[in-house]
Amino acid sequence: MKKKSTVLRRCVACKKLLDRQQLWRVIRDHKDGVVLNDGMGRSAYLCPNEACLEEAQRRKRLQKALRCQVPETVFQVLQKRLIPSIGLVAKAR
Ligand SMILES: [Zn+2]
Repeated sequence: MKKKSTVLRRCVACKKLLDRQQLWRVIRDHKDGVVLNDGMGRSAYLCPNEACLEEAQRRKRLQKALRCQVPETVFQVLQKRLIPSIGLVAKAR
């Protein structure tokens, strides 16, 4: 019987170890270049939050982890996945 275990991966920005399920996965696919979620090849992981996304983008952490260029569109897609929380906090009284 196969034991189900938690697979930990390190975020490229904050270096925290987290359950793989909770992280965004960016893959350098052999065929398609840099892709998200699924692919075959070298992978980098990122926490799904604005701070880590920004840090990764600013310091080129994904590029370094994957050892290739990461297109701007990849960051744009990830940015869209962020849950907008600012609007919820600024509630009018
Ligand atoms: Zn992180």
